[in-house]
Amino acid sequence: MLVKRACPVCRRSDTVTELKRPFQFTLGAAVMCAAGGGIGGVFWALGQEKEYRCENCPRIFFAHTRTSRVFRILAIITYCIVAVVVLWALVLMIKN
Ligand SMILES: [Zn+2]
Repeated sequence: MLVKRACPVCRRSDTVTELKRPFQFTLGAAVMCAAGGGIGGVFWALGQEKEYRCENCPRIFFAHTRTSRVFRILAIITYCIVAVVVLWALVLMIKN
């Protein structure tokens, strides 16, 4: 099901098109990938906001889709688990 986004300026949704951007491997994505052991980085990339353009204004704006929200939450959970594992490993190292 395609959910149309409403333009933040003219409030029209029939003139809004989703811009298909190639996956951008940014420095932030690389850092997130390294920190999250790959999985977190993939979730993080999928959790990025989608880019839309209104043909009426014309204006480019960013908005979250339902899918990107879910992946952002998954990314946050993954990073929490990674943080706990890293802290646990540090505690074990200190004890030994
Ligand atoms: Zn508009």
